[in-house]
Amino acid sequence: MEGDLRNQTRNGPIPEPIRRSDGAGNVDRGPRDIMRDRENPNMFVPPVTDSGLLPNLKFSFSDTHMQLNNGGWSREITVRDFPIATTLAAVNMSLTAGGVRELHWHQQAEWAYMLLGSARITSVDQMGRNFIADISEGDLWYFPPGIPHSIQGLEDGCEFLLVFDDGSFSDLNTLSISDWFAHTPKEVLSANFGVPETAFSQIPDDQVYIYQDQVPGTIDGQKVPSPYGTIPLSFKHRLLAQTPLRTSGGSVRIVDSSNFPISKTIAAALVEVEPGGMRELHWHPNNDEWQYYLAGQGRMTVFAGNGVARTFDYRAGDVGYVPFAYGHYIQNTGEQSLWLLEMFKSDRFVDVSLNQWMALTARELVQSNLNVGSELLDALRKQKWPVVKYPGYGYEPK
Ligand code: MN
Ligand code: MN
Repeated sequence: MEGDLRNQTRNGPIPEPIRRSDGAGNVDRGPRDIMRDRENPNMFVPPVTDSGLLPNLKFSFSDTHMQLNNGGWSREITVRDFPIATTLAAVNMSLTAGGVRELHWHQQAEWAYMLLGSARITSVDQMGRNFIADISEGDLWYFPPGIPHSIQGLEDGCEFLLVFDDGSFSDLNTLSISDWFAHTPKEVLSANFGVPETAFSQIPDDQVYIYQDQVPGTIDGQKVPSPYGTIPLSFKHRLLAQTPLRTSGGSVRIVDSSNFPISKTIAAALVEVEPGGMRELHWHPNNDEWQYYLAGQGRMTVFAGNGVARTFDYRAGDVGYVPFAYGHYIQNTGEQSLWLLEMFKSDRFVDVSLNQWMALTARELVQSNLNVGSELLDALRKQKWPVVKYPGYGYEPK
């Protein structure tokens, strides 16, 4: 016990559920997980403005089952773990150098962002047109529903985030080539391909999922000429290479069917919030928002109407969620940039800015509605600034 205590205090003061601003709360002398309390300072001591009931809007990949294979690993967050997240499901996957996510397909669209390293993806569509591309850090891909594909780690291996347009999707329940072969009589395989049954004597006896292979050669060496040509709408997009919209507190890169035409069911924004910056008060008039935190730490407060607001803490590796049209903002609570993906089951990224709405509404109306003066009214901005930071204005971390 003493050793535990020393360990706990070495990592900083032990937080207590007492709010500094009004003294509410009491020390916690009972059973507790101090490491988690430290990670969630704004859930442990919520802002005084938090109120009412909101379902859980946070789930961490650290709380999921790891699927370990020779060749890589995967872990997923679906409605089974995170019931509010009905629109999208996600998989965090790593492949070794040469590691293969086997040839497979599924009913859902697949959107993916390369977090580190590089991989080669392949696909063939219903017209017999094929696709092959190498994906580097900051690039993404999109496979339409039902279109078969594969992923293989290149020299340095890779880690990526997969997002599917159905919250109940599981990557452990896809249609795989090895699985189909294993569950088809060899005489049928023989008849289908016109070769003797002995050609199938060594096939895997069940679904392979991920396996270790050699690092593939050059992309040109692996290109298969198709008499029907290549897939015309690229499945690859270089998101991080896109010129961002920069505002006072950070940057935003938006990708949807307007600049990545194949991505018809998933839209995203890659957001950077600098230290001291804030993703402004806003909401989305199209669908729920699913979030993945890539770097840094922050807190988000979600406003649900009727006096209900709740704050959650997030850090790299966490998933957040905002139900359709609920108001929200995200503050960087750390000392490095906070990076997150805002994702939507939609063909377009759209948001409504509280500031812009007020700036473009009759001044007298805003003035009387909120009982505010010219100090605020004169500062309202007709242009949207997704990420803000004003000299001299910030929040007091508790
Ligand atoms: Mn897939
Ligand atoms: Mn948002």
